[in-house]
Amino acid sequence: MTVLPIYNILVLPNTDVYLRTDIFEDAVGHVPQKGESVVLVVLRKDVPAQSVTENSFYPIGVTGFVSEVHAEGWLAVRTADRLNIDKAIVSPNGHVEIITSVREDSDTLSSHEDAQKTAGVKSALLDFSKGTQWEPVSRAWVSQFSTLNSIASACSMWMDASNEERYAILAEDSAQKRAEMLEKLLYETLEIGKLSQEGSSARQEDYQRMVRESAIRKQMEYLQKELDEMHPESVSDIRRLELKIRESGMNETARQEADKLLNRLKQEGTNGSETGMLYNYLDFLTSLSWKKEAAQEIDLNEAERILEEDHFGLTKVKNRIIQQIAVMNLKKEQSGSILLFIGAPGTGKTSIGQSIARALKRKYVRVSLGGVRDEADIRGHRRTYIGAMPGRIMDAIQKSGVSNPVMVLDEVDKLSSSYNGDPASALLEVLDPEQNSTFTDHYMNVPYDLSDVFFICTANTADTIPEPLLNRMEVIQFQGYTPIEKEQIAVRHLLPKAMEAVGITKKQLRVSKNAIRLIISDYTREGGVRGLKKRMDSLCRTAAVSIARGNIETISVTPKNLREYLDMHPMRHRLVKENVSPGIVTGLAWTAGGGEILYIETLLSKGSGQVLITGQLGDVMKESARLAISLVKHHFPEKSSLFSENDLHIHVPDGATPKDGPSAGITLTTAIASLITSSPVDPQIAMTGEISLRGDVLAIGGLPEKLMAAQRAGVKRVLIPAENKDDLQDVPNETRESLEIIPVMNLLEVLSMCGILGVERASDRVEHTDTWKEQKL
Ligand code: ADP
Repeated sequence: MTVLPIYNILVLPNTDVYLRTDIFEDAVGHVPQKGESVVLVVLRKDVPAQSVTENSFYPIGVTGFVSEVHAEGWLAVRTADRLNIDKAIVSPNGHVEIITSVREDSDTLSSHEDAQKTAGVKSALLDFSKGTQWEPVSRAWVSQFSTLNSIASACSMWMDASNEERYAILAEDSAQKRAEMLEKLLYETLEIGKLSQEGSSARQEDYQRMVRESAIRKQMEYLQKELDEMHPESVSDIRRLELKIRESGMNETARQEADKLLNRLKQEGTNGSETGMLYNYLDFLTSLSWKKEAAQEIDLNEAERILEEDHFGLTKVKNRIIQQIAVMNLKKEQSGSILLFIGAPGTGKTSIGQSIARALKRKYVRVSLGGVRDEADIRGHRRTYIGAMPGRIMDAIQKSGVSNPVMVLDEVDKLSSSYNGDPASALLEVLDPEQNSTFTDHYMNVPYDLSDVFFICTANTADTIPEPLLNRMEVIQFQGYTPIEKEQIAVRHLLPKAMEAVGITKKQLRVSKNAIRLIISDYTREGGVRGLKKRMDSLCRTAAVSIARGNIETISVTPKNLREYLDMHPMRHRLVKENVSPGIVTGLAWTAGGGEILYIETLLSKGSGQVLITGQLGDVMKESARLAISLVKHHFPEKSSLFSENDLHIHVPDGATPKDGPSAGITLTTAIASLITSSPVDPQIAMTGEISLRGDVLAIGGLPEKLMAAQRAGVKRVLIPAENKDDLQDVPNETRESLEIIPVMNLLEVLSMCGILGVERASDRVEHTDTWKEQKL
């Protein structure tokens, strides 16, 4: 007799129990023989045959014999009675022997009851398979069962019952109860089956619908594409927009907004009141680049070469840009600190932005902010306005066609606020790295990522830029060019470009060095090279006419014939005055155009102590004048009656240029001192410096520009505040060398440098004046 331990199989008396052949072989160690007597015992746990012990079995089993062995790998055991396992012995080789006794049922199940229950379950089984493709098969299968036990045994493998639950049925002594348990288990199994069938068929339906839908869509798209290709002229605008929205790669919010407006456009049709607005909006949104470009590694040497190629000089600026590129390379970022280029017009601020774009291999866009007063200019108008438009920033992004252009924001110092909001604060949002990744233009109404844009701002002065905006940026000064630098720029860049623009070759036009120098000195008056560029352009245009007429083959421009080619008068240069008279002093001013020299003229006339100030002076300069008068009265007490007996007139010529700022302090004081002491100051001494009431000379701004202006005007000596000594390193060598620069700390030093102090003694006065005259010669 073979003892066959089994696990999780429903074992019942008087029926067929189906098993896999390999389970049989594993458990008993031999191939099943038809007719072989077996006792089926139930394992408490699923343990391998080798680990079975005496306690591994439940105490009730079933006797039977192998009734069928099939080549497909399964066998049937025809069971008979239930057994009590009185004792089990497991030998070391795993062989199990048992001593058993028959276990009687406590009651019987009548064949009638059994037949009734069986019929119920059979019909439930048939219902279950109704309408499915396996209905005929299951009919045949179900018909072979004649007892509840046989159905339960056959369905064992699908039953959702644990090993304990299955054993509990076998262990039940009441045959009637056993039948009820089986019935319940079978119905439960069927219910679960139904649910999962419903679930799976519902899921299947969903899936099928999805597959079908996508197949239909694909087919439609394909057919539409074919049609579009056949008739490109009739591809509808809506369809075009639809395709563009799909392909644009826009973010989720933008996509939702675009889909919403597209639906509205579809409903509006071609003649709706909103059609134009909707169309323009979608067209704008889809023409933006929504792709994030990967950060590129920039070859620093190559970038340096490009910057060098496009611009002469500007070494400091170029170095700073290379530093920025290096940092961007290391951090694998597309933008770094926001650069603010400050300098006079024509110093190359905008055009170097273009070179930076070229060096970075990125697109370049320029946004001019001059005169922008309305916040909507930056951030766009809301769509509800008629004629609403995107702001200049998004407009530029669209023009660039990429999401990471180099964007030059020109003239940020010319922004002004109005009742329509403050454009500077809108710009702040654009430039703030914390906020600009979700910049929302009012017109677009969806966020756009500006964090990869390389922003460069330009301005003539930092004075009018709001502080919060200025804080966001890193200032780089463009000092303006010296005459020698200008000459180089003209020869290397401006002239060749101008010639190329009008189509004349090197052979056809020669411009002598002296002619270029003359253009710089007599035909331009600027810190940058914009005027110089214009002169080069007009020179080439005039030359082009002569060449085109065929009159001349080669034109040679020299100082002699220069005026003819430029067709303009030389500029009246503000050069230092020749005549020397008391009360006039040369000052230096910073202007948006670079630097300029100015004269402060003073005059006493019979009167009653009034002070008259003319020449477009700002409030600060008027205050400086009052300060100057007090200081002079203090230092020359013996002359103070002059102020009460006369009227003092202070004038700064060139009324067209508004002047303000405290840096004329020492000039004003010196002029008044010179006037009342009747001691002329050499006009070739220029000065700049703020003054305090104690007579200390305080630091000023724009020193390099002022010194270059002094050089241009032919000044020999310049008095500067000692506090500004460090700024001298920003002044070109050429300028420094051509001037005698004297740092001063207080008014007394200034006055003695100018020969005013000690002039009470007539001999002193003569001596001083003579010295200066000699120097001038
Ligand atoms: P800004 O923006 O400072 O007003 P731009 O960049 O418009 O000045 O420059 C004006 C012109 O002068 C441009 O044509 C530019 O190419 C030229 N330019 C300025 N600086 C240089 C330079 N260092 N080398 C060559 N060309 C220059």
